[in-house]
Amino acid sequence: MSAFWTDRDFDDHEVVHFVHDEKRGLTAIIALHSTHLGPAAGGTRFWHYAEPAAAMRDALRLSRGMSYKNAMAGLPMGGGKAVILANPERRKTPEMLAAFGDAVDALGGKYVTAEDVGITVEDMVAVNQRTDYVSGLPVAEGEAGGNPGPFTALGIYLGIKAAVKHKLGRDSVEGVHVAMQGIGSVGGGVARLLAKDGAKLTLADIDTDGAQALGQELGADVVAPDAIMSLGCDVFSPNALGAILNDEGIARLDCAIVAGGANNQLAGPGNGAALAERGILYAPDYVINAGGIISVTMEYLCRRDSAPCDINEVRKRIAQIPERLTKIWQDSEASGSSPDQVADAMAQKLIGRG
Ligand code: NAD
Repeated sequence: MSAFWTDRDFDDHEVVHFVHDEKRGLTAIIALHSTHLGPAAGGTRFWHYAEPAAAMRDALRLSRGMSYKNAMAGLPMGGGKAVILANPERRKTPEMLAAFGDAVDALGGKYVTAEDVGITVEDMVAVNQRTDYVSGLPVAEGEAGGNPGPFTALGIYLGIKAAVKHKLGRDSVEGVHVAMQGIGSVGGGVARLLAKDGAKLTLADIDTDGAQALGQELGADVVAPDAIMSLGCDVFSPNALGAILNDEGIARLDCAIVAGGANNQLAGPGNGAALAERGILYAPDYVINAGGIISVTMEYLCRRDSAPCDINEVRKRIAQIPERLTKIWQDSEASGSSPDQVADAMAQKLIGRG
């Protein structure tokens, strides 16, 4: 067996912490990929993994993704991620969250956490009782922060519009067919914004009742989860799971653009180039889905008097996502490298590893 630090996913992480608090029921990994630009910022995932190695892999890949995401979003933050290993019933307790808060606090501000899949704003409020190194807390109306989902959705909506302009030459998404995989906090928000502009939507979610309800609300079609990736459409928008863009998944696609919020959409090296070879425009996930981290970082910095608290500052920064994507696509066309390769090279340079 290879050591973790020789694995590709380890990618020279600065440090990886293993937390085990038997009494309070916490097993967690806190991975800090880079603190080159500032404290490592990234959410906490609460998930049941079939085996610990899968949790480790998730933590490492997500943590590196946060380094790249924060750097590309122009934030003064490094990248990290925490994963809490849930039991099969995914039972979360106040004691577990307290133990997690203590573990974050023990890092003395090298890691700043927030929500990710399986963690709510209420959970972060509980964690905040043990540590100040938390963002994504409830905020007053008009202030930066709170639930990152709607801000992530806004950035993805703007990114899809930029992709439609770049690839299809259209200034509006009216009548553009978008197939949405996952309509939770992020996907549901993207769907609502696109519907307002008159996009034609097809939705899929393993929560079939939720998909039907949103379909009715927005006048959108609903298909089974296993049918969404092969649906003929203009834009395929993944907003559920990572690693869906593997060889088999890419072969099934029948779209011109892939642009969505799920983290780590590309299963492995070469998948971005495979998309480009098929003529499919890819919006690098960590660039298009940065809206939420922009919001919670501004909240965190505002609490430390290091940034304006105004929500308009967040919107201004999210509005830069389309031009960032367009630059990546232009560089990709000029260089022949795929958009993910161009984005990775830009991000690595920003974190001092170019
Ligand atoms: P969420 O849990 O609110 O929503 C995910 C949705 O996907 C759920 O409705 C779930 O039922 C559905 N789903 C799960 N498996 C599916 C499948 N196989 N097919 C179809 N639907 C499926 O989570 P979220 O906050 O909306 O996050 C979605 C993705 O975006 C995740 O990959 C997350 O890491 C990423 N992301 C989220 C944020 C944020 O601000 N919340 C920020 C950046 C990236």
